[in-house]
This record gives sequence, C-alpha cells and structure tokens, in this order.
Amino acid sequence: ATSVSIQNVTKRYQRSGKTIQALAETSLDFSPGKFISLIGPSGCGKSTLLKIMAGLETATSGRVLFDGVPVTGPRDGTSVAFQKPTLLPWRNVMDNLLLPLQLTGAKIDSSVHDHARQLLTLMGLEDFAGHFPRELSGGMEQRAAIARSLISKPRLLLMDEPFGALDEFTREDLNDELLSLWANEPKTLIFVTHSISEAVFLSDQIVVMKARPGAVHDVIDVPLARP
Ligand code: ADP
Ligand code: ADP
Repeated sequence: ATSVSIQNVTKRYQRSGKTIQALAETSLDFSPGKFISLIGPSGCGKSTLLKIMAGLETATSGRVLFDGVPVTGPRDGTSVAFQKPTLLPWRNVMDNLLLPLQLTGAKIDSSVHDHARQLLTLMGLEDFAGHFPRELSGGMEQRAAIARSLISKPRLLLMDEPFGALDEFTREDLNDELLSLWANEPKTLIFVTHSISEAVFLSDQIVVMKARPGAVHDVIDVPLARP
C-alpha cells in the first residue's frame, strides 16, 4: 500500500476570463492501507484533489507525494474509478477487465485469468464474463468497472463517487463488496462521496472538506465498526 502526502496544493481553473479557485494550500497526509473518504459540499474541490492525485490534472502550486515520490502523471500502482462506468461497449466484461493489463503489455496468463474470475465472483458477476456492457444493468456495469480498477492490483485506488449514480439498495450491496475487495489485498483507498453515512460505514478516516478555499479541512478518525 502507498502513503499519500498532499503538500500545500493550490488549484486555479481559468474559465472565460474568470479564475476559479478550487483548492487553496490544501495539505493532507494519509497512511498506507487506510480507507479514506473525502466528503464536503459540492464544489469544495474533492474531484479536483482526486484528479491531481491521479495525475490527470496538475496543481497550480504545491505537490503530491506517493511514498515520498512526487506525482507527475498517471502511474503504475494507481487505479481510478469514476461515477460513470467507462467500459468499452465492443468488449465483453472479461475483455474489459483485462484491458488495463493489455495496455501495459503485461503477460495475460492463467493466473491473470484466475484473478479476473475471482474479482468477478467478488462483485457477483461470475456468470457475466462473456456479456457485453449493453446487456448489464447500471449496477452491474459499475461492478465490472470496479473489478477492472482492481485487476492491476493497485497499491492506491482513487474512487470519485463510484456509486453516485446508483440507487440506495445497490449502493449498500456495493459498499459491502468494496469492503471485501479492500480487505482482500492491501491498498490505500481514497473515496470521494457526498454521503456521510457511506463515509462513516466504509472508512477509517474521513476528511471533511470546507466550501471556502483555504479553510482547514477536518480529519476525523472513525472508530471501527466494520463487519
Ligand atoms: P467537488 O468535487 O467537491 O464538487 P470540484 O473539484 O469538482 O468540486 O470543483 C471545485 C471548483 O472548481 C468548483 O467551483 C468547480 O466549478 C470548479 N471546477 C472544477 N473543474 C473545473 C474545470 N475543468 N474548469 C473550470 N472550473 C472547474
Ligand atoms: P443491479 O442491482 O446490479 O443494478 P439489477 O437489479 O438490474 O442489478 O439486476 C438484479 C439481478 O438480475 C442481477 O444481479 C442479475 O443476476 C440479473 N440481471 C440483471 N440484468 C441482467 C441481464 N441483462 N441479463 C441477465 N441477468 C440480468
């Protein structure tokens, strides 16, 4: 698992001549192996912070370190999952799962297939490996996308409201499944949500981000009541 250090990160966006301050001198430290939720009102910079950690946006100033090394772009050992599942429609579920490994040129041997099947089973999709995304419900598609984000055995997993588009019942199932996935292999998980109850149920630590840029974010340790 990876340690994460966010140091004085400021992010300003320019849009039609206006400057939007999304983050101002944000500093946070996360220990390896923790399940951390980022919560806070819409617009407080949660997604921006996650994208900077993912290497998909650059900070205006400040830096992010993984295990002491500055992040300069997407990197091995880090996976990202977003609110909208992004499965490729012309690939079946299994081939979508294997895609991240194929892109890095990894060898797809039988142990990789075993791991993929294990992830599909954990996500309740063992019978759907050969199905195409259009044949799945929204919840099943998101389950497949989560399985895909784990195929490379990331040491750091970044999730931006992965269940945000789903109904509450499906979310509860997925919360349980996410916890078993997280417990299965050591990884640091940073999870953006706007659901306080989801954050309390899932995480070791909750960062409550404030709407006003530059305000100090509260970090709350959650006493463990996990199954
Ligand atoms: P949250 O995830 O907490 O809702 P965001 O990180 O999405 O917050 O947004 C923080 C602020 O930055 C908001 O005011 C938002 O409108 C603005 N913002 C986010 N992305 C962009 C962008 N690509 N261009 C311009 N402004 C943006
Ligand atoms: P979710 O709770 O993941 O959104 P649904 O409530 O739509 O899924 O579906 C409940 C169950 O019905 C699924 O777990 C699956 O077994 C079955 N199912 C849903 N869509 C399909 C499909 N296109 N083909 C076969 N079985 C399906």
